Amino acid sequence: MKPMPPHLEIHDDRFATLVHPVSTLDVIAEGFTWTEGPVWCGDHDCLLFSDIPSQRIMRWSDTEGLSVYREGSGFNNGNTRDTQGRLVGCRHGARDVVRTEADGSLRVLADRFQGKRLNSPNDVVVSSDGAVWFTDPTYGILSNFEGRRRPPEQSARNVFRLSPDGDLGAVVTDFVQPNGLCFSPDEKTLYISESGSSHDASVPSVIRRFAVDGGTLRDEGVFAEIDRGLPDGMRCDVMGNLWSSAADGVHCFDPEGGLLGKILVPRVVSNLCFGGRDGHRMFITATSHVYRVFVDVHGAEPWTRGRG
Ligand code: MG
Repeated sequence: MKPMPPHLEIHDDRFATLVHPVSTLDVIAEGFTWTEGPVWCGDHDCLLFSDIPSQRIMRWSDTEGLSVYREGSGFNNGNTRDTQGRLVGCRHGARDVVRTEADGSLRVLADRFQGKRLNSPNDVVVSSDGAVWFTDPTYGILSNFEGRRRPPEQSARNVFRLSPDGDLGAVVTDFVQPNGLCFSPDEKTLYISESGSSHDASVPSVIRRFAVDGGTLRDEGVFAEIDRGLPDGMRCDVMGNLWSSAADGVHCFDPEGGLLGKILVPRVVSNLCFGGRDGHRMFITATSHVYRVFVDVHGAEPWTRGRG
């Protein structure tokens, strides 16, 4: 068997089938302040990602390289796409969740709960019924680094669900700092990361698992613990494995929470997504850099699977 490249750490033989043994970890963009919110746009063969402190959303493609997609992003953080392919993002500055319409205009989907401003929406996913699920920790109002320092108006750091009818409800209310979130491929499970150890070392760095029952969630406890740093953004592949950000790279867990292996990245990882023209790339936002690595599995999100 060929030796594994130094950026791969194998904990289970199954991991060697998910990442190619001669793959490389390539830098595709660098020189940013804090990258986050990667999302693949297969219809345009490009990656979008946020550089939160510079208030930009960047665009990268294999053929056209790097460009600015949006200036003055309002400290945009997490991004996803809805069932119609529209970009949905979380803005720390405006403390809202916005959708980019086909004509390029922005439509605010949620900015208040029970009459009070949200903290600073962080990451977002859209389920196939069109509901928008997002986390609302306080990172964007704690300092002026990735937002504006402001006192919180909410009494908790909630996970919200915006129904297709426009009703906003708090579906989980007991996180210290909810952060990344992602659905299993069948949407029966929602994984949510707890990143509260960023400011309180006594908070466990865990990914929690919730059973999805229509518009409500049932807590199924801790899915996995992150042993280096804390979990931030996450994505599932089509087999139901969960890929989570961590301080030392990307950790891959099987659907039962067993650690299969790690992609070791030399900078703290904030988030990741699947994509690429053939759907076999993973893009990793890590502090000042964005990395790309070949993966031999497709992402669960249909628009990331490429064109064959
Ligand atoms: Mg995040």
